[in-house]
Amino acid sequence: METTDKVLILKTGKFKENDLWVRFLSASRGVQTAFAFGGSRSRKRFGGCLEPFSQVLFKIETNKTGAYQVLKEGSLMKSYPEIRTNLRKTGLAANCLKFIESAGTEKESSRRVFDLLSETLDVIESSEPDDFFPLFFRAKVAFEQGYNPDFTICARCGKPLFSARPVVFDIEKGVITCSECDNGRRGDSVGSGTIRTLAWIQDTGPSNWMPLNLPYEIRQECFSVMDKFMAYHMGLVWEESGYRKI
Ligand SMILES: [Zn+2]
Repeated sequence: METTDKVLILKTGKFKENDLWVRFLSASRGVQTAFAFGGSRSRKRFGGCLEPFSQVLFKIETNKTGAYQVLKEGSLMKSYPEIRTNLRKTGLAANCLKFIESAGTEKESSRRVFDLLSETLDVIESSEPDDFFPLFFRAKVAFEQGYNPDFTICARCGKPLFSARPVVFDIEKGVITCSECDNGRRGDSVGSGTIRTLAWIQDTGPSNWMPLNLPYEIRQECFSVMDKFMAYHMGLVWEESGYRKI
């Protein structure tokens, strides 16, 4: 069966002289792997289409038993020359790609995650985001996948949280409460600036995050609390060279 799929290339590797395997994010099916036979030499069928970060429209064929997919040909829709050549930008973008590759995507959220990754790469390509940008991206992916705490009101008494300080983030339950309701139980104490930032990430997209000029402590706190939250709920931890599923 042959289908046409809009994808973003995450990773490519050789498995024979001229043949490649390609891992990509499909806008309709989430993270997938397929073979590109002759991929490393056929410019006619794959010219520029198999580099990470490329957005491609692929013709894909599934073999008779449905066990694997073969890329027949691709047309390049968008590439990111700045991301490819500017090492700092390559690093930021690669961090986002690695996260998607490790996290995978639910089928229902694959379209939203695809659009999010695409918009994120556009921002990295055209501006100079700081080192925290991939964290905001990871948090947004978690929110899109349904790990979506309410950062605006206390989960127990319903009091608005933005005025209260500090508040308590119960990582396991994925809820935020005011400090009165927490009542000495466990939970991470976080500042109101941090939850305001996370609520902002929930409500907006990558093109809105650039002007966000946050104090270092708030960024650091977002980082620490969200990475714990994602490790617990999505089973992902960051290690030196990438994410590991736990
Ligand atoms: Zn409360």
